[in-house]
Amino acid sequence: MRGAATRAWRARVLAPSPFPISPPHHRRAMTWDVMIIGGGPAGSTAAAELARRGYRVGVLERKRFPRAKLCGEFLAPRGVAWLRQLDLFAPVLRAGAQLVREAVFVSLRGHSCRFPLSRFPEGADVGLGISRATLDHLLLERARACGAEVLERMCVTEAIASGGRIVGVRARQLPAGTCATFFAPVVIDASGNARVLDARSPLARRRSRLFAFHAHVSGVEGMGDVVELYFYPSGYGGLVRIEGDLYTLCGLTTWETMRRAEGDAERLLALTLRRNPRARERLGNARLESPLTGCGPLRFGPGVLPRTHVAIGDAAAPMDPFLGHGISTALESGLLAATLVDAAFREGDPTALASRYARTFRRRFARTWRVATLLRPAALWSEVGDRVLARLPERASAQRLLLRFIFGGRIR
Ligand SMILES: Cc1cc2nc3c(=O)[nH]c(=O)nc-3n(C[C@H](O)[C@H](O)[C@H](O)COP(=O)(O)OP(=O)(O)OC[C@H]3O[C@@H](n4cnc5c(N)ncnc54)[C@H](O)[C@@H]3O)c2cc1C
Repeated sequence: MRGAATRAWRARVLAPSPFPISPPHHRRAMTWDVMIIGGGPAGSTAAAELARRGYRVGVLERKRFPRAKLCGEFLAPRGVAWLRQLDLFAPVLRAGAQLVREAVFVSLRGHSCRFPLSRFPEGADVGLGISRATLDHLLLERARACGAEVLERMCVTEAIASGGRIVGVRARQLPAGTCATFFAPVVIDASGNARVLDARSPLARRRSRLFAFHAHVSGVEGMGDVVELYFYPSGYGGLVRIEGDLYTLCGLTTWETMRRAEGDAERLLALTLRRNPRARERLGNARLESPLTGCGPLRFGPGVLPRTHVAIGDAAAPMDPFLGHGISTALESGLLAATLVDAAFREGDPTALASRYARTFRRRFARTWRVATLLRPAALWSEVGDRVLARLPERASAQRLLLRFIFGGRIR
């Protein structure tokens, strides 16, 4: 806890008894200055940054880490720049992450367009291929090392609101199911798509018709240090090398295609990725090294950001996977939230925190959402995708302009 202003705020939050229980009781339950729900990239980054600034931070995470996560497992150059800032670039490389230097888009007819990652605005010159089990574990351990208290296997079930703000949560310790209640003057939702503090928001209800699938494979042929994105009639998918000789295979498709595959991994690949000539080549002798898992229907941002608490990462707005910027946005929004929470504590006024954060978040990320919405048809309808890919520029200056249009930032 920092400074007189922070103490005054804490006292004010406690004084008018904003909680639905008696003050002596909730004083004991108020364990932290900031409580974060979810220990993914967004939650662990915010936790580390706030703990580093001297706040008492609690993270409630329903899984035990390291845990697998359905994801393309490609970290874009902007995310690599954030990892560098967090001093995690070297540890991630030591853990086996692979450098990625180019993104290659391949249409159903086999047209391809290469984008060197050094042309992306505002980021490192490279991307990374890294399993989420490894990356998220390193990030959460960093939060612990910075002083955050992390409670794993603690599943938040309900928000407790008072005076128009969320001030606490009810949770269950897994697997026993023991109930626990936690309070903090600032509560941050970093629970990803679960969006546990705001389950009935408009975003939570806006679902697409898309499902995702994911597996680790070995024996992929002819891929260098690139991430490849393949379009097929019911969606798109990608391949990238991660630790050792493993590759992440991840794709999006319709519910109809999932149903036709009848739970058979080979059949699903035949209906999706293997329809694309380049992916068929790459996967010719590939072997599944993990079960093929799926999830959906997927939801995409932007949503209505809450005014009752701060939401970061996917809990604020899930990014379209084909932009490969979900993890970067999670890291960046975690840092942004930490900065604004710190400012609110210093000013001693929590009331404007959520709306100030929502405004800043929208200013920072709205452009990428808008462009993602614009590009989604090209990614999902292979006919449109074919035409768009055939017209994508190869010249460096034109590619830089295009990437600047999509992601904002300065042209390099
Ligand atoms: C198919 C697909 C492919 C993708 N590929 C990429 C990619 O290649 N590159 C990229 O940058 N992005 C990608 N993304 C996006 C990326 O996965 C997300 O943007 C990123 O995981 C968001 O991080 P987060 O910390 O906000 O949420 P998450 O990573 O979802 O973390 C949320 C955490 O909250 C915990 N939690 C949930 N509910 C509760 C609860 N009730 N109580 C306690 N804890 C809870 C979860 O266990 C989890 O650990 C992809 C997304 C999809 C759908």
